[in-house]
Amino acid sequence: MENLKKLEKLYEGKAKKIYKTNDEDLLWVEYKDDATAFNGLKKGTIVNKGVFNNLISAHLFELLNKNSIENHFVKRISDREQIVKKLDIIPVEVIVRNLAAGSLSKRLNIEEGTSFKHPVVEYCYKSDELSDPLINEDHISILELATGEQVKEMRSIALKVNEVLKKYLEKKNIILVDFKLEFGMHKGKVMLGDEISPDTCRFWDAETKKKLDKDRFRRDLGGVEAAYEEVYKRLVGS
Ligand code: ADP
Ligand code: UDP
Repeated sequence: MENLKKLEKLYEGKAKKIYKTNDEDLLWVEYKDDATAFNGLKKGTIVNKGVFNNLISAHLFELLNKNSIENHFVKRISDREQIVKKLDIIPVEVIVRNLAAGSLSKRLNIEEGTSFKHPVVEYCYKSDELSDPLINEDHISILELATGEQVKEMRSIALKVNEVLKKYLEKKNIILVDFKLEFGMHKGKVMLGDEISPDTCRFWDAETKKKLDKDRFRRDLGGVEAAYEEVYKRLVGS
């Protein structure tokens, strides 16, 4: 690890840059301040988002590790950088919802904040061209995005992540409304990857229900930077 070197850039996405390293199994991730919403239609910058998301993500991946949920996180090496295990990403976004919000509220006409009697798991096809459409297990099968076994495993891990995060966040006075996970294959196993941050989760203050996540950017609510910092302070800072 000490002699790990950052090599060429493999990929630059909307929120992160991914670099090769001199270790075949490891990638070097750099979190950016760029923010996009509505599949890239809305663009902007959230000052220090990259720093907060790197710190929050590292913290939550460590929490999952401690709770026996294996994931790609290896080590945070600076404010904006972390080392992760290289995965073969499965192009399916797994969404878990505890309360109605966002696209589900619209699609099913359920008022935001309505709670469900059990968590709802959804899958989206990770495709910028198609704007990440909602898909089901049959679509995943015909598109050959993942096997039935892999879907079962992703769903099971996602629900475990939900239980661990929900409980932990409750103690920090935060309601976990919903979140998105990405998985990949690592040495023949389905492993959790990507990030867990206010970009990919909906976090609401438990008392005031104030939004502490990317919805402040999506919906022009103001106080975007302050919200990311608030989550950081509640989770990592104290
Ligand atoms: P996007 O591609 O949606 O714009 P990002 O800017 O966050 O998103 O880019 C990060 C990219 O790296 C994503 O495509 C994600 O699937 C991928 N990724 C995340 N974790 C890993 C990993 N451990 N190994 C390989 N790829 C990863
Ligand atoms: N989400 C994400 N990336 C996506 C789509 C959704 O991280 O490409 C997260 C989003 O932040 C929220 C959850 O997944 O926490 C559910 O998102 P929803 O489908 O409501 O998306 P919206 O259309 O409202 O962004």
